[in-house]
Formats: sequence, structure tokens, C-alpha cells
Amino acid sequence: MDTIDLIKLRKYAARTGQPTHPELLDARPLEHVNRIEIDEEHITIEFDEKTTRYYNANEITRREWVYKYNDDPVFVNAVARVIELARSHLRDMPENVACPPGCAQCCSGYEPFVSRADVQRIADHLRMSYEETMRRYVVERPSADGYHVGWLRKVGDDLGDQCVFLMGSRSGRHYCGVYEARPHDCRDFTPIGCDDVDTSLPRKTTWKIGPAFQPKRRGRRRNGKRL
Ligand code: SF4
Ligand code: SF4
Repeated sequence: MDTIDLIKLRKYAARTGQPTHPELLDARPLEHVNRIEIDEEHITIEFDEKTTRYYNANEITRREWVYKYNDDPVFVNAVARVIELARSHLRDMPENVACPPGCAQCCSGYEPFVSRADVQRIADHLRMSYEETMRRYVVERPSADGYHVGWLRKVGDDLGDQCVFLMGSRSGRHYCGVYEARPHDCRDFTPIGCDDVDTSLPRKTTWKIGPAFQPKRRGRRRNGKRL
């Protein structure tokens, strides 16, 4: 049986505020792990995060377990195993580092904000004026700082409707019809960690992208009929 040096333990408790009796330990189960951090000496596990909502603020609390593992051979071996596994997977990329071709879930549920520069780039791409591009393809809603001028229109009024520039709906193989000129918001959208990915689509596939988006040109009219 191990003997415990109570004087040392009390000094330790006074210095660190740690409990010195098993009954004082927080022995609730370690559940809902959020984060694990390992350094040369300690392993720290954050868990059991709770958010309490007040009328004007949220209070977030979490529990933490810290263990000085570097003189515990079982733990040292376990951490060494994790390091070995990390080394063997060093060059593995997450599966969703690229979007599966044809996926465009994010071109439906989101409204990309556009700046003046975005609108001008799309206008140049479509060979239209800035004003016409704004009128046809942008819901005008300037941001408070004036940077964004609005967001891209959808084909309908529903929030889940597709972006007006999304192509390939008939085949289900979607692509952006103004890819080279797409807004900065769309360029910034990263597939890494994306929860909206259409998992029914194969990632390794080749298919040709169809024609680019073409604005409906207003034809000349004769006797009220479009030519
Ligand atoms: S501009 Fe292109 S990338 Fe951006 S939401 Fe529309 S279709 Fe998607
Ligand atoms: S994987 Fe995600 S980011 Fe990529 S196209 Fe699909 S929904 Fe958009």
C-alpha cells in the first residue's frame, strides 16, 4: 500500500487549491468530450460543456480533467501510440478536402453577400452594366459599413431555393454558371468540415461541365412581340 505524505499533500492543496480528500473530488462521469490536449507532461480533457441562456447573454461552462501523465508508463505508451498513428497518417487528407463534383448544397441554403467589386466582376463577366447586374441578380441590402451591397438572388422566394447562377439542375450535376466571377463569399466557402455535403455523390468521377450561365437577352420588339 502507498503511504501518503499529508504535510506535502496539504502544502500542495494550499498552493494549488486542489482537493485533498477523495470525497472532495468531482467524480461525476466524464462525458461529452469537447477537446483533448496533450503536451509533454499533461493531458487535459475538456468535457460536459453547458450553455445557459439568459435574456441578454449566454453563459458557457465546461469541466476539465488534467492529469500529469509523463511518469505513468501506461499513459506514456498510449500517447506514444497516438504519435505513431499521427506519423503514419501525416500525409492523409480529410476526405472532404474537395467537394464531390456536382454537389451544390451550399448554393441553395445560403445567400452569398456581394460587394461592389463582386458585382462589377460578375457584370464584366456577363458583359452587362453594373446597374443591370444589380437589378437582375442582386437583392439590394447595403451593409451598415457600406461594404456589401446585397446578396445574390435565388430562382424563387424560398430560402432553400437555388442561386440564380447555379446550373445543372436537370441532370443533378450542378456547377456554378459564373465560376470565374463568383463572389468572394463563394470563394471563401471551404468544403473542409462542410456538414452539407451531398453524400450520395461519388467523389471520384469525371464529367464535363456544361455551358456557362447566359443572361436572357432582351430582344428587340416589333408590334409588342419579342423577336
Ligand atoms: S455564385 Fe456560383 S458558387 Fe456562388 S452560390 Fe451561386 S452558383 Fe454557387
Ligand atoms: S461539399 Fe459542401 S462546400 Fe462543397 S459544394 Fe457541397 S455543400 Fe458546398
